[in-house]
Amino acid sequence: MTNSVSPFIFEGLPVRGFLVQMKDTWAEILTRRRTNPDTGEYPQSVRALLGEMTAAAVLLQSNIKFDGALILQIWGDGPLKVAVVEVQPDLRVRATAKVIGQVLEGAALSQMINQNHGGRCSITYDPQSRRPGQQPYQGVVPLEDDDGVSFERLSDILEHYMRRSEQLDTTMVLGADDSSCAGLLIQRMPIKGQDNLGGKQIEFEEDALDQNEDYKRISILTASLSVQELLNLSSDQILHRLYWEEKLAHLSLDGQQNLTPHFGCTCSRARVGAMIQNLGIEEAQSILSEREDIDVSCDFCGTNYKFDAVDTAQLFNSQNPQPPIPGVVH
Ligand SMILES: [Zn+2]
Repeated sequence: MTNSVSPFIFEGLPVRGFLVQMKDTWAEILTRRRTNPDTGEYPQSVRALLGEMTAAAVLLQSNIKFDGALILQIWGDGPLKVAVVEVQPDLRVRATAKVIGQVLEGAALSQMINQNHGGRCSITYDPQSRRPGQQPYQGVVPLEDDDGVSFERLSDILEHYMRRSEQLDTTMVLGADDSSCAGLLIQRMPIKGQDNLGGKQIEFEEDALDQNEDYKRISILTASLSVQELLNLSSDQILHRLYWEEKLAHLSLDGQQNLTPHFGCTCSRARVGAMIQNLGIEEAQSILSEREDIDVSCDFCGTNYKFDAVDTAQLFNSQNPQPPIPGVVH
């Protein structure tokens, strides 16, 4: 197992699934963080959550096949301020988290990010070619159920999100350790307009949440997968172990055999330059009056960009200024 996404459907049933397993991609994200002298490595509980988020974001992007970046983000109150994973349509992945204060060994999700019920989870779909004025689509849910009880698993948060935002029954198993991260997603597809049912007549009520018996059976099978199995067995072993009594058909992602998750950052010197232009010449000069360079490190990949007085002057003399890109100068 290196990095792979396996899509599959249950023949004749309105249920489909995706299994993702990542080793190299996840290792690269952790290594870049660990070797960044400005930050050092994440606490163990943050590594575990960010790994699950990375697997989940690849599953969600594979599921929706969105022509743009999918951004899964959790933020709130507690020492973990924010955790973000971004997945491009070609499954290029980057992830980062910001920790202020101490995260205890084995800290629960709510201790890290939902101590006073201020935690939120969002999924953002940012189209590749955004029209002027067009905003990215974003859905937001709290990190607790309708009775105010905090979720302690990312999978519970995302299942809740899918029920609320998409009206879709979804079951997820997610796991991460320091060498791999992985996830299994099962979703009930809306029956209308689906063509894999082979003309089978299905009562309309089965199209509502919690009504489809086939989905319920497959969901119970799915939830029986342990995190150990998810992280250590091959995709074929997992699917056979869970669904050997079902009629499973393997698919390829959009026919693209080589579509595999891989690490990649979208930062560049030009983008950082645009960010400095966006600050304005006065702010830029004020930074340069206190230090030699405007020094910006990418939170996702650790790449450091330095702009000295000459570089900065060139930015503001440029005849073709870059469009502003939001961001933070450290
Ligand atoms: Zn970067």
